[in-house]
Amino acid sequence: MNFKATPLSAGLYLVATPIGSARDITLRALDVLASADVIAAEDTRTARKLMDIHGVALNGRPLVAFHDHSGDGAVTRLVAEIASGKSVAYVSEAGTPLIADPGFELGRAVAAKDLPVTTAPGPSAVIAALTVAGLPTDRFAFVGFLPAGKTQRETEIAALRDVPFTLVFYESPKRVHGLLLSLREVLGDARDAVVCRELTKRFEDVSRGSLAELSDAFSGRTVKGEIVVLVGRAGAEEVDDAMIAQALQEAMKTMRIKDAATTVAGALGLPRRQVYQLALTLET
Ligand code: SAM
Repeated sequence: MNFKATPLSAGLYLVATPIGSARDITLRALDVLASADVIAAEDTRTARKLMDIHGVALNGRPLVAFHDHSGDGAVTRLVAEIASGKSVAYVSEAGTPLIADPGFELGRAVAAKDLPVTTAPGPSAVIAALTVAGLPTDRFAFVGFLPAGKTQRETEIAALRDVPFTLVFYESPKRVHGLLLSLREVLGDARDAVVCRELTKRFEDVSRGSLAELSDAFSGRTVKGEIVVLVGRAGAEEVDDAMIAQALQEAMKTMRIKDAATTVAGALGLPRRQVYQLALTLET
């Protein structure tokens, strides 16, 4: 056993848990789960299973359910535990609490009482997907789940059309094709996109292509598992090196090379590093 059960100071501990592979739990997450006075979980069975896998015993400590529908009373009870000097660990069903998961109201209520809120950080599907997708990661916007209805979904996508960041969506396997069709409809055929399925699990699968290619590839397919969809930033497909060079030459008349690269990258919605490297070739 690599983890330690040691007394924790009072506070809320937001603990990230694996999104697939159970061994992605961190040692500190296990320390906190082994040590907290109270464990609150979105799903107590999942939490207990994870603790069992890693040999973390409850030893009579309370394991209580807490989710978005638990109500104000449940928040008040947990805040009162912390105010009385207890440590409370909170785990959502998978990944990082608050990231498309419960924990927000609880964290806010604890902070509002000036009580400590801390985290044992770890897995989250948004970061895992960005890590493998191959799209720019210097600026990204996490959108999470869009509404299920087509009209509402497309209205929300339209509001993101010009955002020069990689966009990250969570989606259910049943609706992934509908999401890809809506993205294609609103953002056009050409944007780069990536569908990440079952990250860190046995059938992990990453599909890359344009929105047109991916929406065709997922048409009529029965899709299973958990899914993150990423879309390349606005403007990236229309800018060629000559355009970047021209913008850089203009900017470099009044700015240092680094500032010029930052400005041009921001204006064209491109990764700073790519623009900076081009700027270096222009510097004479
Ligand atoms: N709190 C979690 C996190 O930090 O990523 C997200 C919880 S949200 C209720 C569940 C969604 O996350 C899934 O529908 C899917 O979109 C995404 N997700 C979770 N695990 C995943 C995995 N292993 N591979 C791909 N997507 C995953």
